[in-house]
Amino acid sequence: MNSEEVLLFKTIFEQTPVSTQIFSPSGDTVMVNQAWEKLWKAPFSLVKSYNILKDKQLVETGTMPYIKKAFKGEVVTLPEIKYDPSLTVNIPGVVPYRWLSAKMYPIKNNIGEVTHVVLQHEDVTEKRESEEGRNRLAAIVESTQDAVISINNDGIITSWNKAAQQMYGYKATEAIGNSIYILIPDNLVKEEEQLLKSVREGKKLNIYETIRVKKNGEHILISLSISPIKDGHGKVIGASKIARDITAQKVYEKSIKESEERLRVALNAGQIGVWDWDINLNELKWTDKVYEIHDVDQKKFNVTYDTFKELIHPDDRDYTKKKITEALSGNEDFSAEFRIITPKGKVKWVATKAVITYDPTNKPQRMLGATLDITQQKQLEQDKSDFLSMASHELKTPLTSLKMFIDLLFRELDNGDQEKKKYFAKRIMDQASRLTELTNDLLDVSRIETGKLSLNIEKFSINELIEDTVEGIQATTKKHKIIIKNSDKVEVNADRYRIYQVLVNLLTNAVKYSPNGKLITIEIKKDESNVVVSVKDNGRGIAKEQHKRIFERLYQVTDPEEKTFPGLGLGLFISKEIVARHNGSIWLKSAKGKGATFYFSLPLT
Ligand code: ADP
Repeated sequence: MNSEEVLLFKTIFEQTPVSTQIFSPSGDTVMVNQAWEKLWKAPFSLVKSYNILKDKQLVETGTMPYIKKAFKGEVVTLPEIKYDPSLTVNIPGVVPYRWLSAKMYPIKNNIGEVTHVVLQHEDVTEKRESEEGRNRLAAIVESTQDAVISINNDGIITSWNKAAQQMYGYKATEAIGNSIYILIPDNLVKEEEQLLKSVREGKKLNIYETIRVKKNGEHILISLSISPIKDGHGKVIGASKIARDITAQKVYEKSIKESEERLRVALNAGQIGVWDWDINLNELKWTDKVYEIHDVDQKKFNVTYDTFKELIHPDDRDYTKKKITEALSGNEDFSAEFRIITPKGKVKWVATKAVITYDPTNKPQRMLGATLDITQQKQLEQDKSDFLSMASHELKTPLTSLKMFIDLLFRELDNGDQEKKKYFAKRIMDQASRLTELTNDLLDVSRIETGKLSLNIEKFSINELIEDTVEGIQATTKKHKIIIKNSDKVEVNADRYRIYQVLVNLLTNAVKYSPNGKLITIEIKKDESNVVVSVKDNGRGIAKEQHKRIFERLYQVTDPEEKTFPGLGLGLFISKEIVARHNGSIWLKSAKGKGATFYFSLPLT
């Protein structure tokens, strides 16, 4: 080698980008190049005394046998190792470690002796790390529950993770190379084309919900995001799609919505209003129904605990307040029934129940309650108790007389005259009949209310029935004269006993409510389709405003100026039901003090 050639090789040695270190056959470092100094961030002077055959670390890492082979004359590729240059060259602050791939080869002379050993290192840290990163990413993609797939610009699937297989049912081998459109329902093809077009333009699509078809044809609901995949030059080469199956979530959301809806319907159907009182902030919230129950205008009424208290009936305010305080101080739930007065002055009964929530220090935080308008229910309870006391009063009157006449009869039994005995016996009969009537009325009401009033339809002459009834009623009164006039002869198909009951009721009322006697007139009139029977008296009459109500159950006209009449207020109610069951109707014409005429009609067919 001439000196020019030596210079040439030296320059190549110095300038080659591969770190190169040359050892003597005994293992001492004889030369390094610039690339070496760059890799190890150390000058040659530092490793002048470094003997590779004496490096303990190389023994520990198991690399020494390879090195020894090189010294014996073999070319060796060392396993890639994680090398800590700072340990070797003892320079603090340099890169803590490098991944190096290394090759060693011997230089031999003419007779095959090893004169030098060359060690060349390549720094593969970056290559290796990006590979690791890729592997890590791949592991994440494989293990995620989301389907992660990628496609190229032609819409051909290029990768397919495990979750995608599970979600869509296609194996990776089936999916990769296939078109993405295998997943798209027919009606969404246009949408997909549009999306892929904008992804190709480099746009990222945020999560949106859509539908996909599985291999087995089932449809699933997914939430999807799409991002473009770009090459090193920023050119879009495909797209990644990440999808999550939200079918179950949607079903869950739907069921929550449905149950909320059901609750709302139930609350509305049950006429229940809901309120929520934040005790600390003193904020009270009402649902529409609560406003409705209190008859206040939602837009105008500023609901607070104080304005609510104003609506409570003054007589019930203390009671309600006490109930609230009790509930707030104990761990009991709140439950109360009280009256309110609406701004229009109407009194209503409400029932309220509430639960209280407490903060961690056990201080009441919130009261969540439900309110129900129970006015009708309370009225019914009142009616029932009125009815009971009236019924017992009504039953007691004939019973007392009954006992009295039986007592009198007993005293007369041995000595008394026959006329007296007959008289007492007759009065006993009268009172017993009265009792029978009353109990029959009560039974009928219960039959009507349970829908068990049955009819025994037969054909009979209404004229005959009326004549018989009049005869019976006339016998009970001497003050009244009952006459039948202008009558058409009519046969009806009806329940004879029930129609008799209606007649008895109208006639006894006519007698009862015209205490001063006089005439009672019955007329029987026939037209094409109906027979109309009227009973006219000349008694106290009924004021117009009462006309509708007297047919209600238990309704009696009470006039403080007038004397009270015995009765339960059931007769007209029962009559109306009987006539209605025959498809007829009942009505009246009357004015206060002018007598009354009651009419009922029955269809002829
Ligand atoms: P009762 O007679 O037992 O009270 P009814 O149902 O028969 O019950 O009548 C209801 C109410 O209608 C009576 O309380 C009475 O005030 C009124 N009424 C019924 N018939 C007449 C009538 N002919 N004249 C005046 N008032 C009547």
